[in-house]
Amino acid sequence: MENLKKSKSEMIMDIATKRGLIYPSSEIYGSKAGFWTYGSLGTKIKNKWQNLWRNFFLSLNTNFYEIDDCTIMPKKVFESSGHLKNFTDPLTECEKCHFRFRADQLLEDELKLDIAGLKEEALTKLIRDHKLKCPKCKGNLMDVRFFNMMFDIKVGATGDDIMYLRPESAQSPYLAFKREFEATRRKLPLGLAVIGRVYRNEISPRQGFFRLREFIQAELQIFFDPDKVNEHENWNEVKDESLIIFSDKKLKKITCKELNEKLKIPKFYLYHMTKVQEFYLQVLEIPEKLFRFRELNQEERAFYNKIHFDIELNLETLGGWKEAGGVHYRTDHDLGGHQKGSNTKLEVTIDEDNKVKRFIPHVLELSFGVDRNVWALLDIFYKEEKERTLFSFPNKLAPIDAAVFPLVNKDKLPEIAEKVFLELFKQGFTVFYDDSGSIGKRYRRQDEIGTKNSLTIDFDSIKQNDVTLRDRDTMQQVRIKIKDLKENLNKIKN
Ligand code: ATP
Repeated sequence: MENLKKSKSEMIMDIATKRGLIYPSSEIYGSKAGFWTYGSLGTKIKNKWQNLWRNFFLSLNTNFYEIDDCTIMPKKVFESSGHLKNFTDPLTECEKCHFRFRADQLLEDELKLDIAGLKEEALTKLIRDHKLKCPKCKGNLMDVRFFNMMFDIKVGATGDDIMYLRPESAQSPYLAFKREFEATRRKLPLGLAVIGRVYRNEISPRQGFFRLREFIQAELQIFFDPDKVNEHENWNEVKDESLIIFSDKKLKKITCKELNEKLKIPKFYLYHMTKVQEFYLQVLEIPEKLFRFRELNQEERAFYNKIHFDIELNLETLGGWKEAGGVHYRTDHDLGGHQKGSNTKLEVTIDEDNKVKRFIPHVLELSFGVDRNVWALLDIFYKEEKERTLFSFPNKLAPIDAAVFPLVNKDKLPEIAEKVFLELFKQGFTVFYDDSGSIGKRYRRQDEIGTKNSLTIDFDSIKQNDVTLRDRDTMQQVRIKIKDLKENLNKIKN
């Protein structure tokens, strides 16, 4: 009962570390903030999320594909992309304890001010005007300076060759564009997705599993003809759909048609926003009240984005609305930059209605942080009840399809249970066998990690060739013939 005094975040973290969902990386040597391991169960949830993402977004268009790339890239890539110059966060340091803080976060936390887009001098002035001190030791804070968040590494024996760990997966499709455009028969729109690791030297990776230094992004870069930004072949399918939008400090539901006509948001952009919303509400089954798009103004937007809506989820463990992804209209910023920097033609020539058009494609980016989304699932589906805690994950996200228990460890029950367990395992289900402790405790252990189905072999099973199937959420039990298990589990799996 001592547990009940813990915060929701602590409760989830306790379960996550104890049960093999996530835990600090290199833990036995004392881990570093911002580096985490996905354990055996966490990897299953992450992979399920990634597969749902892959299946959903790559099926939006027959010309969308996935690629995979190195995470270490030459310096020139980031000179051309602008990251070497602009991928910075404001830093302030305590003169006494030398702890470093992200100045914007510190000011936001301490003064509750919205300080997006302020430069070094303005941030320093705010610190001085409000006499802000180091939150750790009350020492004086140094002037704010910008700090580049990329990790550099020395490559080769001489150590002269400096390369960089990619800070976003997006650069890979831009560098691959020329080859893929040729290989896929020169058609636009062309979508190139990457699910992969990226690295950012975050100044203060606080908030547990939310701000990491090594993390995974799932991003889809869609290359298209800028003349066609206000069209989409499936516009009619989405034009009457309402999007949940937070703007001007208000939450609104606005149809795509209205957003297009009144706010001049292009149809190509809106079509994909609708699909992002559908992914969250229908595929991941996130409750509608916990999802919204938030429009970013010019000061808040990344330097390359023309239109930018963040995907936000309301997460109790993190104190409210948090960014889980974004929909970014990056124009020709990236291909243009790489064309110039690499001296390689990245513009395309397209024959349309007997007219030859030559242009640099524009990019619409759908960007998601996988780890933040995994944490969001833990936050959103976690429940505390009188006798138990549970994750009420939709089946398609639950790490285990079914747990199998013999009611007692005698009278042939373990033999039957093991047979059922192995049969399901061979059929491709993720199953877990547990024969220790009371049946009630075994149910609780499965509830705690979100297993939807628990199968118990009891004395009636011997005569009837059946099992009881107990549902995690309702705790109701039904009897099912062993021969029908595969079909039943498949039905509830999706
Ligand atoms: P933030 O404002 O939180 O630093 P960002 O706007 O810099 O994030 P993007 O560059 O748009 O993030 O990256 C795309 C996605 O990658 C984000 O929406 C988020 O889900 C994820 N992401 C970004 N930084 C981190 C991080 N340090 N740890 C985990 N995920 C991250």
